[in-house]
Amino acid sequence: MKTRTVELVATPRAPHFVGDGFRVHNFIPSGFRLDMQRMDPFIMLDYNSTYNFPPSSKPKGVGVHPHRGFETVTLAYKGKVAHHDSSGGGGIIGEGDVQWMTAASGVLHKEYHEEEWSKTGGDFQMVQLWVNLPKKDKMSAPKYQAIKYGEINRFELEKNAGTIEVIAGEYNGTKGPASTFTNIYMLNAKLNKNGKAQFNFPEHYNTVLLVIEGEIIINGNAKAPTDHLALMANDGENFEIEATSDAIVLILSGEPINEPIAAHGPFVMNTKEELVEAFNDFNNGKFGYLED
Ligand code: MN
Repeated sequence: MKTRTVELVATPRAPHFVGDGFRVHNFIPSGFRLDMQRMDPFIMLDYNSTYNFPPSSKPKGVGVHPHRGFETVTLAYKGKVAHHDSSGGGGIIGEGDVQWMTAASGVLHKEYHEEEWSKTGGDFQMVQLWVNLPKKDKMSAPKYQAIKYGEINRFELEKNAGTIEVIAGEYNGTKGPASTFTNIYMLNAKLNKNGKAQFNFPEHYNTVLLVIEGEIIINGNAKAPTDHLALMANDGENFEIEATSDAIVLILSGEPINEPIAAHGPFVMNTKEELVEAFNDFNNGKFGYLED
């Protein structure tokens, strides 16, 4: 099998606020190397690098907004988020938890710092990822997977190298709990200093590594520091990472859907006509109601 090489190590862009509760670096879609087609099925990745929020009696966050045509995946590394949606669902995304929301035909939701957490404040670190849906599933019913940290399966590496936590897909036979519409791998590699781990995904699967903590060397030659995103080329299957300090790395690899993408704001469809329909449906109240 061939080695998959590093195409690019992207420096985090200047952060911006989403609402008043998420201070994010946008990595996808940014530029042609990390645009929606290149990163298919990963169409958006916002990364809230560790940021200290002071205590606030009023929880900070993002008010009511719609989504249609894809899934939003929230990974909480530090801090807590409370979530509510127009179907009456809601919950708390705590440290280590993953919320996998299939917006599909449409939801309204809002996301705020959890009330008690907000009162004390503290370090906050999150990833929000949008995963595209194939045309045949874009108008399916919304659903949620609230994946608690304890439900995420773990593979212990040899030689005390660390642990691979499997959220979606599998690693050396250990499967993740998330159900996905297309083939996706989502792993948290938690490596001890000098720990190494090998990965193997089909060559055409689009693959990125986000360094959450510490620093890694990929394939023995490409350094990726904290808060950087490495884009792997589609030129092989295998790669290796080595932690030069204790490290956490989010690894995403997905089979491209290879369909046209028409995106505007919170809607990601296949055609402009479907985008217009999404705006009309939203304006006509077809996404339901949620109090701000
Ligand atoms: Mn949202």
